[in-house]
Amino acid sequence: MPDSQYISELKNRITERNPNQTEFMQAVTEILDNVAEELEDNDEYRRYRIFERLTEPDRIISFKVEWLDDRGCAQLNRGWRVQQSNLIGPYKGGLRFHPTVSESVIKFLAFEQCFKNALTGLPLGGGKGGSDFDPKGRSDHEIMSFCQAFMTQLYRHIGANVDVPAGDINVGAREIGFLYGQYRKIRNQFSGVLTGKAIEMGGSLVRTEATGFGVIYFLQHVLEHKELQLEGLTLTISGAGNVALFAAKKALEQGAKVITLSNSRGVLFKDNGFSNDDIEWLIKYDNIKDNTLLSFAEERDGEWRAGEKPWQYKCDVAVPCATQNEMNGEEASTLIKNGCKVVICGANMPCTSEAIEAIHNAKNCCYIPGKASNAGGVAVSGLEMSQNAGFESQTFEYLDGRLRDIMKHIHGQCVKCGESDTGDVNYERGASVAGFHILAKAMLAQGV
Ligand code: NDP
Repeated sequence: MPDSQYISELKNRITERNPNQTEFMQAVTEILDNVAEELEDNDEYRRYRIFERLTEPDRIISFKVEWLDDRGCAQLNRGWRVQQSNLIGPYKGGLRFHPTVSESVIKFLAFEQCFKNALTGLPLGGGKGGSDFDPKGRSDHEIMSFCQAFMTQLYRHIGANVDVPAGDINVGAREIGFLYGQYRKIRNQFSGVLTGKAIEMGGSLVRTEATGFGVIYFLQHVLEHKELQLEGLTLTISGAGNVALFAAKKALEQGAKVITLSNSRGVLFKDNGFSNDDIEWLIKYDNIKDNTLLSFAEERDGEWRAGEKPWQYKCDVAVPCATQNEMNGEEASTLIKNGCKVVICGANMPCTSEAIEAIHNAKNCCYIPGKASNAGGVAVSGLEMSQNAGFESQTFEYLDGRLRDIMKHIHGQCVKCGESDTGDVNYERGASVAGFHILAKAMLAQGV
């Protein structure tokens, strides 16, 4: 759709207010392009500057993190928490520890998180945080020191009804444990201030599996809508962390074949597909071995290809589960040429704008944005918050059932807002529009 004067002026204003924030502007532009028609059609949305106000975080907290390494030397990192919007619930979103973390990266994640959380139907606002700390090569003791120093800065800004962080890249159960321990000591409070906790300290069953499982539950609805089924299909998955491994596990359980996993150093290809035992092995050694995929190829099976990505292999479904912008336009075109029918995001914004455009232009391939398909993690985090608030715990079966229902609910909203007259569904438009209406209504109802 060509930009109207209103939309292009709006884009210019947001760009001017956020100079040099490439990732943030990429996320804003993607959603704005998809909700442009709703803004054009609604005088109230324009008068009350709803979209523009949603792009502006409620607050951006940045702080220094000082800690001692194992040699007794001082180390210095930068930390952020972006509290984007608490219009529909406490700020909620993960923490990422990675050298590529910047204010722009955290802002894009926080902005997207608001739409994702709205789609779950749970009372969850949006936020995100993290640090440029690189945990690679660091000892357990150093990770603990860093987490304690990070929480010593963050604790004053969060709370069970204020802001509830969780994990993201390089922040798993171990890091959440260290962060939670420090919060408890400083505040002398045992409350649901973080999610993704171990079961013994108020964590929820299914949280570890939730994002990856949720991606596959969503995929099943997409395929059903296309009158296809997952059984017998071939999947290429990128990443080898929490999301990738549990997506692979659930896909295998449903009779699909998974032929790749990857990390920042290369791809592991297994022509005959990974077995459930293979995935269990990788889950067991994730965090223990330096390069689990390379160790797998050396000790077990499969072909390790250093420096390569999974998108050159023929597949029915591609599932990017590593990081932002990990698939470019050329790689998306290769997938389409090789017959890929669905690109479904486990990671946040893993496809560049060119990749998304290539998929939208292809007749037989559809694109599923992370804000719809990877919402299972935050959804079960929401369930962890209500278990903590009620001092209770639910069974695996109950929570897995709730996760399935929530993924079905999100799929239904995408179809409702993204289906064309010919029956094709534009999931990107559907997710953006459905999420936007929820946030816009809450903003209008609460006044300026
Ligand atoms: P993990 O830290 O568990 O795993 C990340 C994986 O991605 C690792 O295999 C890592 O490889 C790989 N990776 C990181 N950076 C790159 C890169 N530049 N190129 C190639 N591979 C890379 O993270 P998660 O699985 O938790 O998160 C993965 C994605 O899913 C992120 O985009 C996150 O925001 C998103 N997500 C996560 C949720 C969750 O519940 N955990 C919820 C919703 C979304 P290496 O070890 O070599 O660095």
